[in-house]
Amino acid sequence: MDDERQKILIVDDERFNINVLVELLKPEHKTTVAKNGRQALERVLMGTPPDLILLDVMMPGMDGYEVIQKLKDNEKTKNIPVIFITALSQTSDEAKGFDLGAVDYITKPFQPTIVKARVNTHLRLKRKSDLLESLVALDGLTEIPNRRRFDETLDLEWKRAIRNNNLLSLVLMDIDHFKLYNDNYGHAAGDVCLKKVARSIEKVPQRPADLVARYGGEEFVAVLPETDGEGATQIAEQMREAVFSLGVTHEFSSASDVVTISLGVATIYPVVEIDQKYLIEQADKGLYDAKEEGRNRFVDVDMTISYDTD
Ligand SMILES: [Mg+2]
Repeated sequence: MDDERQKILIVDDERFNINVLVELLKPEHKTTVAKNGRQALERVLMGTPPDLILLDVMMPGMDGYEVIQKLKDNEKTKNIPVIFITALSQTSDEAKGFDLGAVDYITKPFQPTIVKARVNTHLRLKRKSDLLESLVALDGLTEIPNRRRFDETLDLEWKRAIRNNNLLSLVLMDIDHFKLYNDNYGHAAGDVCLKKVARSIEKVPQRPADLVARYGGEEFVAVLPETDGEGATQIAEQMREAVFSLGVTHEFSSASDVVTISLGVATIYPVVEIDQKYLIEQADKGLYDAKEEGRNRFVDVDMTISYDTD
């Protein structure tokens, strides 16, 4: 059986602080430590990722802000909750920490009861969100179906389409210049943006068999069974409009002054000889072309005539 205890990574350049925190948290949790930012990033990517990171803001070399930015920019580490460690009364640091995506902060000198309470609260939330994600296959942030649910649905619909000789369409989409959005407005605003986009595109397809899921990062996907190219492009255009009409300001996008998405549409008659990945690849090609052609648009890759790959 796995050890049920959750894992905490403690990052601080001062040995004394590390010792205090380890002593405090070790009885109930698994702890691991890092003395600087670089080491912290190595530890996070090595083995089982931690359930929570306690991150000192002031460190020589790479400081806490830089570390959290790197964590949030990586798909593998972006959902690990981070609690900032700040010196007492640095409230502007705390505000900046929240902007960058921290879930909480603790102040030095440490007050054991508060440290434990905050750590336990966020570990409990992490456990719940992990559980929810695995049980209902919902993405923890946007609360729309997650990648796993998409994989299962595509597999199921692919086989069903082969059996019934039906068409299957896929729409792959991506928020335009989302990195610039995060860099300029902060990760907290980025998360709000992801939620709004998810909610708006999820409402577009109307039939019960249609599925809209988070594909990863700022990418979303729609599986549209028994839908021809024309039907799929209509859905794609409605999704594009839905996001555009949210009117979320994005001053740093070359595509528009509001948040927009680019989309790739692919439609196929699935056959046993072809791997379902092919449909994703084709939609991805369309998405790539939509980006190249200026974003805030869809490109349709019609494969119902020939299956040629290149
Ligand atoms: Mg320090």
